Amino acid sequence: MTAPVQVVLASHNAKKLIELNRVLGPLVPGIEFIGYDGPEPVENGTSFEANSLLKARAAAAHTGMPAVADDSGITVDLLGGCPGIFSARWAGPERSDRANLELLLWQLSDLPEPEHRAAAFVCAASLVLPDGTETVERGTWPGLVRTEAFGDGGFGYDPIFQPEGETRSAAELTSAEKDRDSHRTRAFTRLVPALTALAAAGQGD
Ligand code: IMP
Repeated sequence: MTAPVQVVLASHNAKKLIELNRVLGPLVPGIEFIGYDGPEPVENGTSFEANSLLKARAAAAHTGMPAVADDSGITVDLLGGCPGIFSARWAGPERSDRANLELLLWQLSDLPEPEHRAAAFVCAASLVLPDGTETVERGTWPGLVRTEAFGDGGFGYDPIFQPEGETRSAAELTSAEKDRDSHRTRAFTRLVPALTALAAAGQGD
C-alpha cells in the first residue's frame, strides 16, 4: 500500500486538525493532514481568501510541503459584511468570544426583525503546493443573528447564529450536524479535486 501524501495544516489549533481529518479524511484517503508549529504570518489581507492564502503560503515555504489553511468569520448583510475578517477581534485585541458576540448583539439590538438580521459564516480554504500552485475556495453557511445567545456547544459566534432552515443556534447543534453543513466543511470539500490530484501525483513517485 502506498503511503499517504502529507499535507500541513497551517494552524496551531489542534482541534482544527482533528476536525479536518474527520471531515476530509474519508473524501481524500490518499492524504494525511499533519500539524504545524512554525511561524504564522501577519494576517494583513483584505479578504478571507487573501488571509487564508497568506497562512498556507507561509507554512508551505517553511516546511517545503503542501499546505492548507483557512480563514473564517461571520458576515452580517446590514453591516456591509462586518465583522467579516475582523470577527476574531471585533470587540478588541483581547479576542474574547463572549465580548465579540455581545458587541454584535448590541449593534443589532434595535433591529429585531429576522429580515434585518441576515448573516452567514464564511470560510476561505486554500491549498498551496511547494511549486507555487495555489487553489482557494469559499464556503458559506447562511442564516441569521439571533436576538439572544443560546446553547453551550461550539465556539465564537455559534450561540447567536441560527443556520437557515434551523430553529436552533449553531451552539445547539451536535458536532456531526455542524460538520455536515458548516462553512468550513463546504470550503474544504471544494478543495477535494485539487487534493485528489495531489494524492494521485504523489502516488506516482
Ligand atoms: P479563524 O479564521 O478560525 O481564526 O476564525 C475567526 C473568527 O471567526 C473566530 O474567532 C470566530 O469568532 C469566528 N468563527 C469562525 N468560524 C466560526 C464558527 O464555526 N463558529 C463560530 N464562530 C466562528
